[in-house]
Amino acid sequence: MRAFLDRDLIPAVILWERGDEIFVIDGAHRLSALIAWVRDDYGDGGDSNRFFGAGITDEQRKVAKKTRDLIKREIGTYAEYSGLVGQTLTDRVQARRLASIGKESIIIQWVTAATPAAAEASFFKINQAAQPIDPIERRILQSRTSPNAIASRCIVRGGRGHKYWAAFDAELQENVETLGAKIHDDLYKPPHRQPVTSADQPIAGQGYNALPFVFDLVSLCNELPMPKTNNDMKISDALPPDIDGSLTLEMMKKVNKRIELVSTNASGSLGFHPLVYFYAKSRNFLPSAFLASLEFSQKLDRESRKRDFTRIRRNFEDYIFENKNFVTLTASRLGSGSRSLGRISELYWQIFLGFQDGLDGGGILEKLTGQPEFAHLRVADIPPPNADLPVGQRGASRQSKSAAFIREAMRGVVRCPICDGAVHTNSMTFDHGERRRDGGSNRSDNLNPTHPYCNSGVKS
Ligand SMILES: [Zn+2]
Repeated sequence: MRAFLDRDLIPAVILWERGDEIFVIDGAHRLSALIAWVRDDYGDGGDSNRFFGAGITDEQRKVAKKTRDLIKREIGTYAEYSGLVGQTLTDRVQARRLASIGKESIIIQWVTAATPAAAEASFFKINQAAQPIDPIERRILQSRTSPNAIASRCIVRGGRGHKYWAAFDAELQENVETLGAKIHDDLYKPPHRQPVTSADQPIAGQGYNALPFVFDLVSLCNELPMPKTNNDMKISDALPPDIDGSLTLEMMKKVNKRIELVSTNASGSLGFHPLVYFYAKSRNFLPSAFLASLEFSQKLDRESRKRDFTRIRRNFEDYIFENKNFVTLTASRLGSGSRSLGRISELYWQIFLGFQDGLDGGGILEKLTGQPEFAHLRVADIPPPNADLPVGQRGASRQSKSAAFIREAMRGVVRCPICDGAVHTNSMTFDHGERRRDGGSNRSDNLNPTHPYCNSGVKS
């Protein structure tokens, strides 16, 4: 905006025309910044409300407000400039800027490509030449009509926003939108707050780029190849377009089932507590820990070991909570790709087997560090607790506050009377201490919050 008002160089916007439609090949951010300023809509205004419906998150509103405040402070709003038209201005900068709004134009270049494929090719050429786009985003963009890309976008936006699924028949569209909204809510409700001052955190925290994470989630749940690292992505991995939507819906159903197993009220859900399994010790959601937990829970389910797990669950949770560094160290060594998630789920599996074999924490660590894959967990290499948290100069940092809250909240967490594991608000059922069929009452003193699996799978 400042560049526009002060007549600095704004690179040309590159457009492509096809029939009545005009596509922005390059310069979409420049254009949307101008439009946002004129309409005072930074993601929470009239246009955004029409586009997202009720799907505007607290996070999005917060960012919009921050942007608006910044613009107001730094350059002023469009409405303020409009109000100055016709007045005699003494402030020369203001007068010059007001004149710019009327005179300044943006240079447009037209791409002459004849086909959408040729226009797309120029888009990727242009966008990779100056500032390379994120490889994961490129992968999603280039395969945007494939079922996994449509499913990912639908989940991220809770079934709202641009209808990438508009070509499907009406009933399928509705099913896709309903399921997208459900999975979105299972992942992102209640809203994530920073610093963490409530144990009611969503199972997938925000504050990171959600689309690549959900794309990985969809790939994992559907056994599609996942890149080992961010640089290991081939466009040839893209699936063919989904013509009728049935594949998209199928993929979303698989995601739903896997999430239900880790954390929802669905019967059989293990109800993993996010602060134990999916978050670092301060405030950060760890996508690879979440995906690893999905793998771990599926292995327990597939090998009929959920009941065994329930017997050692308290020890297991205390151990992984106490040693969150094991997960963060593994993730930072191997990166965010599938290599680290495989290694973390293997870590969980070995800790589970260790407790099964009657080992204590020390014995498990000894067994782990004896293997090349976990040699990095040797105590000597692990930084002391809280060493990596910024302390804060004037006041305590968000991370320090979050870490302190999480530590205390987990001390007093609600525990399942059947397995003694931590119970989270998203996946809680109420067990009758004395069964209904044995005459147990519905009074509060006969009810205990339990994990759905413990209530249905273990007790009956
Ligand atoms: Zn339980």
